[in-house]
Amino acid sequence: MEKADKIWVNKEVVPWDDAKVHLVSNTLHYGFGVFEGIRCYKTEDGPAVFRLREHLARLANSAEILGFQVPYSVDELVAATRQIIKANAFEQCYIRPLAYIGEGGMGLAYEECPVNVAIAVWYWGEYVGRGTIENGSRARVSTYSRHHINTNMSKAKACGNYMLFQMARTEARRDGYDEALLLDANGHVAEGSVEHIFLVREGSLVTPPLTHLLAGITRETVIVLARDMGLEVREELFSRDYVLTSDEAFFVGTGAEVTPLVELDRRRIGDGKRGPITKRVQDAYFDTVYGRSKSRPEWLTYV
Ligand code: PMP
Repeated sequence: MEKADKIWVNKEVVPWDDAKVHLVSNTLHYGFGVFEGIRCYKTEDGPAVFRLREHLARLANSAEILGFQVPYSVDELVAATRQIIKANAFEQCYIRPLAYIGEGGMGLAYEECPVNVAIAVWYWGEYVGRGTIENGSRARVSTYSRHHINTNMSKAKACGNYMLFQMARTEARRDGYDEALLLDANGHVAEGSVEHIFLVREGSLVTPPLTHLLAGITRETVIVLARDMGLEVREELFSRDYVLTSDEAFFVGTGAEVTPLVELDRRRIGDGKRGPITKRVQDAYFDTVYGRSKSRPEWLTYV
């Protein structure tokens, strides 16, 4: 990650090196905070943020699920995001809004502590991971389960939830895989460490229902685009063996975009290569985020 010049913090634009938190900030100790991961793409009409409002609405929902409020409206945060991208003169970048609880008490009670909001942006190039976009990703079933729905709040993109995903991803990488596939507490396929999964079976797409999962914005985008293309999309619980007998599989997420999943536990899915339907979904996705297909203009916020 390359550092940028400036970060937006509580309405101020501050130099990157000055954007610091105090050691006794509540979120640093307990993971009680919420964040987002958003991308700004370089389009022919200038930089455009993909589904910015939906991401910022999810940030507000995540906070509400935990029990606190983001002290800025979605409109204010849309303006702040555009401001900080402009201040760094980025044509394409990653955007990381974070709402965190500051100093004011070191117990679990946080009500007296201030809620702070920061929006960091950093350069993210177009060709990062392009090899994976074509050749696909190899995953293992994680030894860790996706949080039970009454353990951590799975619909909140909460800082503390990511301890699990970091452990799962690290375990997979250390074992020589690219990614982890987590099962839910009942053993159904849940999601990757930062992405959702789709299977292709007899020409239809199948993805797990949201019950245990983050309400993914790419997942929803792919469902809309696939249905626009005339593909059937079903939301169904399935077990890991169903992945192995699928014709194709792919991961989706803001970072992963649409990445073929070509192997699970060293066993090939389909013929172990990016499949034709995965490629069609990828093409539709990239045409949309880069503003080439004009079908969903409301999904792009130009900077
Ligand atoms: N699952 C998890 C656990 C994630 O962190 C992410 C990334 N936000 C996703 C799925 C994909 O969600 P989105 O498409 O909204 O980026």
